[in-house]
Amino acid sequence: MGAHVKQAVFRLPPLPTIGEIIKLFGLRAQKQLSQNFLLDLRLTDKIIRKAGNLKNAHVYEVGPGPGGITRSILNAEVADLLVVEKDTRFVPGLQMLSDAAPGKLRIVHGDVLTFKVEKAFPEHLKKKWEDDPPSVYIIGNLPFSVSTPLIIKWLENISERNGPFVYGRTQMTLTFQKEVAERLIAGIGNKQRSRLSIMAQYLCKVQHSFTIPGRAFVPKPEVDVGVVHFTPLVQPRINQPFKLVEKVVQSTFQFRRKYCHHGIGILFPQAERSENTQKMLMLADVDPTLRPAQLSMLHFKNLCDVYRKMCDEDSNLFSYNFRDELGQKKGKKPIKEDTDDDDND
Ligand code: SAM
Repeated sequence: MGAHVKQAVFRLPPLPTIGEIIKLFGLRAQKQLSQNFLLDLRLTDKIIRKAGNLKNAHVYEVGPGPGGITRSILNAEVADLLVVEKDTRFVPGLQMLSDAAPGKLRIVHGDVLTFKVEKAFPEHLKKKWEDDPPSVYIIGNLPFSVSTPLIIKWLENISERNGPFVYGRTQMTLTFQKEVAERLIAGIGNKQRSRLSIMAQYLCKVQHSFTIPGRAFVPKPEVDVGVVHFTPLVQPRINQPFKLVEKVVQSTFQFRRKYCHHGIGILFPQAERSENTQKMLMLADVDPTLRPAQLSMLHFKNLCDVYRKMCDEDSNLFSYNFRDELGQKKGKKPIKEDTDDDDND
């Protein structure tokens, strides 16, 4: 029997605190970039615990800023951490962390909305979609104005198995304004149920891990923050192209307080709207007098499947946009949108 080799546990050496780093490098939060920093390492450790077992994992952190979450990730004994930060002011502070964890931290000055992560990690990490998730994790506390478009982009990447999902069912742990976190997890009948709920839940298991009070951030944002964990599903709950699902879901929620047939109707040119809406609802087995938030995932699946068939039968249907038709009817009263959620554009 070989000798039992005791492996050294990696811990970062003593370093200036995040607060000291902010002072040292003059990193005042820029309001126009919605920079709110997490300085409490107990909270950043908690985010990391919710992300999964990061030991020997490969992690992609988006928007590390002064590096609070970055430290917790390094202390979780990861194999490799890649951070992408847009604001160059943070690079020297991150470089200090990189020096303290030799060979573990790669710093990229870039934009997460365009950065191509699909080549950033070794090929051998790739898993089949049906397998357990790979040892690649995405973690980030980004500005709210970036996190919502980013999750929509990543959901589309999940549906196409590209971008960060070339490695398989890469798990993500991201922060959102609490109200957006509630939308992401909202179930049938919940008043927060919206486009984002369906788009996220048809592709992922979505869990609200915990809420961070606004006062934990410096400077304090107006709202509390939800930490949300996403695991892509082996089988999406709707088997249609992302853009088609997005169009059906977005239209359905266009008038969120009205009966669902109003929103579904705008998928069709006005001349045949009534007839086609009735046909679609009947074939999808959806009661036209349900409100959008009362529709189940099965309802949305059926609606998408029927709409797909109707698009296959009429090649102009998918490109139809009710706003264009409205614009052409000069002098007509515009449709009043009955929407109170800002993810509905
Ligand atoms: N993660 C740090 C924390 O929790 O303390 C910083 C959080 S702060 C809300 C968001 C960070 O994301 C900032 O450092 C900001 O410069 C960075 N950021 C904003 N937009 C970005 C983008 N498009 N790409 C990369 N980084 C971005």
